[in-house]
Amino acid sequence: MHELSIVKNLVKTVLSRYTPAENEKIISVNVVMGEMHDYEEEWLTKYFVQMTAGTVLDGAMLKVERLPVKLHCRNCGAEFGNSKEEEAVLLACKKCGSYDIEIVNGREFYIKELEVEA
Ligand SMILES: [Zn+2]
Repeated sequence: MHELSIVKNLVKTVLSRYTPAENEKIISVNVVMGEMHDYEEEWLTKYFVQMTAGTVLDGAMLKVERLPVKLHCRNCGAEFGNSKEEEAVLLACKKCGSYDIEIVNGREFYIKELEVEA
């Protein structure tokens, strides 16, 4: 249930950084999540609803935008993606087979924006 702690942090961050004006209502919190995270959206949403109850985020939606994995080979410079299934396998360059792989995208988890209705 690692979704619990990530949602807890997310809600805490939004609440500490943003205070809506009296006539404003936050309708959604949009986050970007790299495909390397295996958070279940169903659980993220469930915890989000639980933790925002009674706060200024009560009733807001959690929107998750998934960012595909992008890898860069330090050996030959190739850039390639990796499908979900392949992640379980060792990360090796598809061109030269090197294991000297840098993760460019895929590990992100951040707040992109808040949608506010005035
Ligand atoms: Zn390579």
